[in-house]
Amino acid sequence: MADFLVALADFDRQRLWVQLGHASVFYYLHRDLELSKGAAHYRKVAAQLIQKFPEVVAPFREGKLCISSLVELARVITPENSAEVLPRFFNLSKQEAKAVAVEICPAAVVPRREVVTKVVTEVPREPPFHLDETPPHAPPAPAPAEYRDSTVPLTPNLQRLHMTVSKQFIDKLDAARKGQGHAQPGASAEKVIEAALDLLLAQQAKRRAKVKQPRIHPRPSRTGHIPAAVRREVWSRDEGKCQWPLDSRRICGSTLRLEIDHIVPRGRGGPSSIDNCRLACKFHDQLAARQVYGDKHMDLFTRSVTVAREAEAPAWAASL
Ligand SMILES: [Zn+2]
Repeated sequence: MADFLVALADFDRQRLWVQLGHASVFYYLHRDLELSKGAAHYRKVAAQLIQKFPEVVAPFREGKLCISSLVELARVITPENSAEVLPRFFNLSKQEAKAVAVEICPAAVVPRREVVTKVVTEVPREPPFHLDETPPHAPPAPAPAEYRDSTVPLTPNLQRLHMTVSKQFIDKLDAARKGQGHAQPGASAEKVIEAALDLLLAQQAKRRAKVKQPRIHPRPSRTGHIPAAVRREVWSRDEGKCQWPLDSRRICGSTLRLEIDHIVPRGRGGPSSIDNCRLACKFHDQLAARQVYGDKHMDLFTRSVTVAREAEAPAWAASL
């Protein structure tokens, strides 16, 4: 791909597509090479970026940049900021690259709006086209078979949430908004939903504090008790994310099926203190236990958990 883009940059620099009868390198890619419009657009932007900033080629070749992050980078890079801005796009997903681009160059005017649109139930022939060529008032994307939410970063602090909801949800939202008439007169949907989320989070925190012990804890334990205060502190310190360290010096970060993990295991005298506890997802909690106690011993404690000794992912990993 890097070789192709470098060659394409050179091809575009010499405007060789004119000789082949095309109006732009985009049409050459789309019509001659028969790439989709999206793929052609991405390659056109990348080739033009390479012409202006050849320093992007090396990190692209090394895999630090992918083509979608090149496209985001192209929106914000300038000769003045390239040395500082380029490394900020390394090793990012498309969404993360979008967020960085927005941070560097927030949209001049961020429209804040709430729009309720009816969803087209028919499946369209072609997926909606999301590139720069899209007309500004494209029809709303139809709902897929299952609801899908997405967020689009606008500025470092603002994101747009696209959410497909039922009629029942809108009715509840309206009722809650009316009910907030005195507490939050004229509240936006965001304010009402945020107030509802605050209630839910408070309820969840209460429940977590109450649960002294997960129902099935695979770890052989001495006392089995983690004080509620420790649980709360660990939850908030670890921000509700699995803290298991990965080889890349990052953490797992999963928010699924979290448990409190003892860094020095209880079985070896590790205390249930804030310092010795951390959040771990089910997968990493069990991995920790297996590292300490060994598979054979753990099999005595884990119900419905099959230990796969083959190279493939263990059966219990599939449910995470
Ligand atoms: Zn994890």
